[in-house]
Amino acid sequence: MKDKLNKIEEEALQAASVITTEVEMQQVRARYLGRKGEITMVMKGMGQLSSEERPLVGALANEVKDRLEEAFDVRQDALRQELMQQNLASERLDVTLPGRKLGRGYKHPITKVTEEIVAIFAALGFGVVEGPEIEKDFYNFEALNIPKDHPARDMQDTFYVSEEVVLRTHTSPVQIRTMLKQKPPLRVIAPGTVYRRDSDVTHSPMFHQIEGFLVDRKVTFGDLKGILTTFITEFFGQNVDVRFRPSFFPFTEPSAEVDIQCVICGGSGCRVCGQTGWLEILGSGMIDPEVFKSVDYDPVVYSGFAFGMGIERIAMLKYGVNDLRLFFENDLRFLKQF
Ligand SMILES: [Zn+2]
Repeated sequence: MKDKLNKIEEEALQAASVITTEVEMQQVRARYLGRKGEITMVMKGMGQLSSEERPLVGALANEVKDRLEEAFDVRQDALRQELMQQNLASERLDVTLPGRKLGRGYKHPITKVTEEIVAIFAALGFGVVEGPEIEKDFYNFEALNIPKDHPARDMQDTFYVSEEVVLRTHTSPVQIRTMLKQKPPLRVIAPGTVYRRDSDVTHSPMFHQIEGFLVDRKVTFGDLKGILTTFITEFFGQNVDVRFRPSFFPFTEPSAEVDIQCVICGGSGCRVCGQTGWLEILGSGMIDPEVFKSVDYDPVVYSGFAFGMGIERIAMLKYGVNDLRLFFENDLRFLKQF
């Protein structure tokens, strides 16, 4: 029995010396000192001993038990210290390290240009109106003097949702929606996303336009020229030359495309302007009486003008970007430059 107790003590000390966690410590404690532990088992077997041996073995068992308890406590304290040191080492903060920089967001160049354009027209008394991107054929085409068999529909490469519903191909349906709801005088600017089946360096299937229109009594082509020239000189600078060139749109008559002196070469001719010295930046014209009829305005009483421009094109010219698709790839190295 004595030998057995000594052996148990030896084994227990050995077991305690190799443990590495508190859980293992508890397991060792239970195995040797627990209610079903090895020491307890020895003490339970003492009934078989002679009356002389019993107290001796009992005393020894208690001594072993006390020594083990103390040894386990010491080991446990040491273990806690070790673990704490490890934690301190692994969680150490170097307060002298420079902080990590958080990336700061900026407005997208398309948003910036849109806001700039809107601000110029707001100062001229125009209010912002928006319309749906999924649009009825009526608002997108029919009411704008583009009937079903009109060749302009081919020009526009439309995304059809169903026979009567399209992804709007321009912001012009906002004109119709606004005129159907309100009576003149109107000064409206309508920025928004539009869609066409087109994709190359200067076209994207999704892009942005700003539509503007003014309707009142006795509005003339002179008013159109005045407002648009004011906008262009505000946006591109006082010294830029502007020209109005006859054009055709189904919803305006007469119509004019507006060019500015090339901002890249200053008018001497370069690749961007196709050696002409001029850049087309927007389309405009006097609102066609047919459009007024479809919104129930009397074309004898009212007249007005409308204009539209592609925001990406304006942004490309302003920032000297030569591929429109860069605006939509969301490459941060590109976007950070603005
Ligand atoms: Zn040029």
